[in-house]
Amino acid sequence: MKTAVITGITGQDGAYLAQLLLEKDYRVYGAYRRSSSVAFWRIAELGIADHPHLHLVEYDLTDLSASIRLLQNTRPQEVYNLAAQSFVGVSFDQPLTTAEITGLGPVHLLEAIRIVNPEIRFYQASTSEMFGKVQAIPQNEFTPFYPRSPYGVAKLYAHWMTVNYRESYGLFAASGILFNHESPLRGSEFVTRKITAAVARRATGQVEVLELGNLDARRDWGYAREYVEGMYRMLQTDQPDTFVLATGRTETVRDFVRLAFQAIDIDLEWQGVAEQEEGRDRRTGQLCVRVNSCFYRPAEVDLLIGDASKARHELDWQARTTLEQLCQLMVDADLRRCQHSGQH
Ligand code: NDP
Ligand code: GDP
Repeated sequence: MKTAVITGITGQDGAYLAQLLLEKDYRVYGAYRRSSSVAFWRIAELGIADHPHLHLVEYDLTDLSASIRLLQNTRPQEVYNLAAQSFVGVSFDQPLTTAEITGLGPVHLLEAIRIVNPEIRFYQASTSEMFGKVQAIPQNEFTPFYPRSPYGVAKLYAHWMTVNYRESYGLFAASGILFNHESPLRGSEFVTRKITAAVARRATGQVEVLELGNLDARRDWGYAREYVEGMYRMLQTDQPDTFVLATGRTETVRDFVRLAFQAIDIDLEWQGVAEQEEGRDRRTGQLCVRVNSCFYRPAEVDLLIGDASKARHELDWQARTTLEQLCQLMVDADLRRCQHSGQH
């Protein structure tokens, strides 16, 4: 039986990856950080919280000694580092915490691997946010980086350290440059889930106006469940490498709002421009969406669209779920939660 460590087990990707590895008959150590109320709702929703081969262990990515002990105690063949302060918006308010967790954190694990067992295969969760102010369209493994947030800068440092440890010490250190990926398990502060949760509340009778920031930003949104399969494949290759995972399609935030309202049979009519823009129900005239500039960011990533040809050729990986399907399944999940009053 193979053993894997997943940091960030309480997050969206950690939950899906744990489920995938358990299905592949791995023993999984899910590392979570101590808090007064740890949120295990995602692994509970996937029905794996009590799986006999899933072991939850306390761990903090910012602690080198904890990283060494984690590897000594669990003796994994594979480590998937998914832990991060992962929200771009917060990174502008907490740049130093973001640097410590998201930037330096992964180096603790890389050092721990060097010290404990250099044979351990390492996956680093890198991000399309590193492309920031994009230097080419679409973006692939050769596109120059230009991060636009403390989060993007921190991730870029961790990415290059991963590459550096691969080249300097021969570690099997892979970096996955993943474009945005969403699901019903996405944190509610991210724009897609903020939208689908609000749409579900409206459909179940709670009339509120959804306030958003920049509606013109374009993202390449895929389905998280498919992206964790790509992470797994990156650690099964002969040589460690860097791979982009993306759908190759880009849409605006406004498009995603429209799709989500369509999923509950509301056709939106847009009025006004930029910070004055609002979306009304075409049939009733009711106000559904309003722009609030407090959700704008100091610097924006305007356009992301990925080219995942390398992953398709070398990993036989491809995104399959369309944005329409993804949006529908997120709305449906939020509707079910609203009906059972269990929204997270
Ligand atoms: P989430 O925000 O859902 O999960 C992040 C996880 O990191 C949580 O489990 C969180 O724990 C944990 N964490 C934060 N700080 C620490 C710490 N100091 N020590 C240990 N654990 C910590 O992110 P996702 O699952 O969406 O993403 C997984 C990874 O992939 C992240 O690194 C993210 O930056 C990256 N990524 C995500 C993309 C996406 O679209 N989802 C795109 C590209 C990259 P807690 O519950 O305690 O907060
Ligand atoms: P990101 O790509 O990692 O920053 O993922 P987010 O889901 O947080 O944001 C995606 C895009 O949506 C960004 O360009 C945001 O500026 C934009 N956006 C517009 N309104 C909102 C909002 O209310 N919340 C969030 N999180 N993002 C918003």
